[in-house]
Amino acid sequence: MLMQHRLWSSGASDKNTAMVEQLQRYGIVRSAKVAEVMQAIDRGLFVPSGGSPYYDSPMPIGYNATISAPHMHAACLELLEKNLQPGMRALDVGSGTGYLTACFALMVGSEGRAVGVEHIPELVASSIENVKKSAAAPQLNDGSLSIHVADGREGWPELAPYDAIHVGAAAPKIPDALTQQLKPGGRMVIPVGTVFQELKVVDKKPDGSVSIRDETSVRYVPLTSKDAQLHAN
Ligand code: SAH
Repeated sequence: MLMQHRLWSSGASDKNTAMVEQLQRYGIVRSAKVAEVMQAIDRGLFVPSGGSPYYDSPMPIGYNATISAPHMHAACLELLEKNLQPGMRALDVGSGTGYLTACFALMVGSEGRAVGVEHIPELVASSIENVKKSAAAPQLNDGSLSIHVADGREGWPELAPYDAIHVGAAAPKIPDALTQQLKPGGRMVIPVGTVFQELKVVDKKPDGSVSIRDETSVRYVPLTSKDAQLHAN
């Protein structure tokens, strides 16, 4: 057992460990659970070869998309941590590489549901291959993790309502369908804006009313139509 653990924790995952420790030193990763999950899901499995998976910067993943920087993934996991408890339901819109969907799956466990929605079919296919190599692979088999080809502006009504919704692309305004698919007590984290973007935290209170605050300024690729994305410059 000890030998196996040593083998597993050598090589690429040493760099993943160092990345998570750095995010902890900077105070971006604060909770033990988020640290544990980011340690378990090796980011190196999700960044196309030639990229620098452990470097704190977004990386191109093709199709005019990027994998978000580690500090953004960490910040979103921290913002959603209370809504990613075991057994809860999470929706990841614009799931791209599948990295964050895999993290969500480990957070909610096999009693919960982690759903990714992405409109580029090739990215959905490669994200599923990435997940298969990761610590979240068993959850693809038990059905608690799934990734679908769809327009994420419509959410994924089949499994609504969600305790947590993450949007990984910037919307000109918050899509109504997503607010509707949030459970009372649920939280959505979504970048909003075009040139200037704010990461918004949308809380649906138990009585169904919604409060919205700005967390920080961000820069994400747009949440748009597939055509507009593929034909952007
Ligand atoms: N969070 C992911 C990807 C971020 S890039 C990661 O870190 O790997 C944003 C993603 O949103 C891209 O993969 C893009 O294809 C997708 N996207 C943009 N508009 C979309 C839409 N309307 N529906 C679904 N996915 C969309």
